[in-house]
Amino acid sequence: MNIQCPNCETIFDLQKNHKINSKYKCSVCNHIWLEKKDKPNQINSAEKANLKTIFIINTVFLFLVILITIIFRDHLENIDSNWKALYRFFDMLIPVQ
Ligand SMILES: [Zn+2]
Repeated sequence: MNIQCPNCETIFDLQKNHKINSKYKCSVCNHIWLEKKDKPNQINSAEKANLKTIFIINTVFLFLVILITIIFRDHLENIDSNWKALYRFFDMLIPVQ
């Protein structure tokens, strides 16, 4: 990771062991500053947006599958007896008065 001195704009190469909010002293101009990292928050919001997109895609896909199984019921029942059993099971769940 690289950090830059805000005073003289010298770029330093840091090792991996550093904390999120660390105090640094520039070896060139002796300027002392507190380095704040904003990047983790940006990554988190990007990951949240990705999760939201995945959730929406999954929900839409699930509704599509349900819709297709309802629309093509007659066709699917003729393909396989397992489909017939599956539809019979779901029919059992619907209370008939
Ligand atoms: Zn400096």
